[in-house]
Amino acid sequence: MNDLEFRTTVLDPLSDSFCAAKWYNATIWLGSGMTTSCHHPPAHLVDKDKVGANPRLLHNTDQKKDDRRKMLTGERPAGCEYCWKIEDMGRDAISDRVYKSKIYPIHALKEAYETPVEQDVNLRTLEIAFDRTCQFACSYCNPAFSSTWVRDIRNNGAYKGLVSDGRNHFTHDHAAAQLYKFGERNPYVDAFFAWWESDLHRTLQELRITGGEPLMSGYTWKLIDWFKENQGKSTTRLAINSNLGTDVDVDRLLSSIDGMAIDLYTSNEAVGVQAEYIRDGLVWQDWVDNVERLLASKKFRGIHVMCTINALCLDTLDQLLECIMEWKSKHGRDAISFTLNILRFPSFQSPLVLPNTTRMIYRQRLITWLEHYHNSIFLHEHELNHVQRLVDYLDVVKTPHSEAFEMPKLLNDFKQFYTQYDTRRSKNFVKTFPALTDWYNTL
Ligand code: SF4
Repeated sequence: MNDLEFRTTVLDPLSDSFCAAKWYNATIWLGSGMTTSCHHPPAHLVDKDKVGANPRLLHNTDQKKDDRRKMLTGERPAGCEYCWKIEDMGRDAISDRVYKSKIYPIHALKEAYETPVEQDVNLRTLEIAFDRTCQFACSYCNPAFSSTWVRDIRNNGAYKGLVSDGRNHFTHDHAAAQLYKFGERNPYVDAFFAWWESDLHRTLQELRITGGEPLMSGYTWKLIDWFKENQGKSTTRLAINSNLGTDVDVDRLLSSIDGMAIDLYTSNEAVGVQAEYIRDGLVWQDWVDNVERLLASKKFRGIHVMCTINALCLDTLDQLLECIMEWKSKHGRDAISFTLNILRFPSFQSPLVLPNTTRMIYRQRLITWLEHYHNSIFLHEHELNHVQRLVDYLDVVKTPHSEAFEMPKLLNDFKQFYTQYDTRRSKNFVKTFPALTDWYNTL
């Protein structure tokens, strides 16, 4: 069934705004006690005083129940604006409401529809972050997701002179992202493990652990140990995000996952010193070695490279893709894959801040890459589509998102940010990105 048929024959008869993600999917940040359904609606706080007695509250909040009530009658919850905007483009426009519902069996959608709204439901797909411990402080990340970023802000103060919408990422330590200190009991983490034992290990199709750097969190290892000690008890697919940096204990990972079907997601979008500049903490060769060790082990369902497409990665993105193609030709099409996720925030790091001529040079490199590989048996359809989508984006889209229309502010922040980033992190923009130096010096 194609996407449009699914919408018109399965979703729409339930209601014009029904989305199964509101029932079966969640992203939950246990460090801050925040939850959302898919990643589009703004996150909201779980009641810490009630979650101990009922761990299902990590997902079944009053707000989500209210949204479900609206969806049952065709009313549109405001937080799902991302989907309504797409659907309002025309009858055939396919929003994430379709993609995020289609992953569940049709009988599960009907069950959700018939469940009284006041009743709690069990999750089927979950992305969870235990804490923000991370040894990296990537340029496009911020203290909400990295303890190393927290140290930068606490030691050196706020980044100064930023005026665009991204400024607040870098002006404070985001204390609300980590409500409990290391070693302190966190009621949200306790609730997660209680729910895991009672229901989630049976109901979840997929559990994805994100961070921070999840392999630096004791809770991730606790969960991996659970799988080891309870072999055959759960069919949940485990997926782990890891930066695969120098300090990540790859030996421990490889020796802990026998008999488990794990997907590993890692981030990178450039090569060599440019990758190290963008992802502060990364040692390029160590990352390459770690990826190659995981591939050679054949212990993973797949390794997935997530590329966050920002202004600085385009100079060597094609080289990274080349590297992934080499790994594919050695280990097989499905052993390693990539996605290109276009950065929207902070807007001043978007590829759209680059001068037109430079952007077109980078665009042409991707076109050349596509021409070379478009018939390759090693590429997935989504990989081809992601490269094509970026080629189109670099040509057509003029602002990173609808509110970011003030280019002078974005250019101001680009220069302000990287000047301070160089000093704080002992880096050198001009030496690292010679192709951008003339333009950078005019900012
Ligand atoms: S309707 Fe769209 S925004 Fe809302 S939960 Fe579903 S996929 Fe997410």
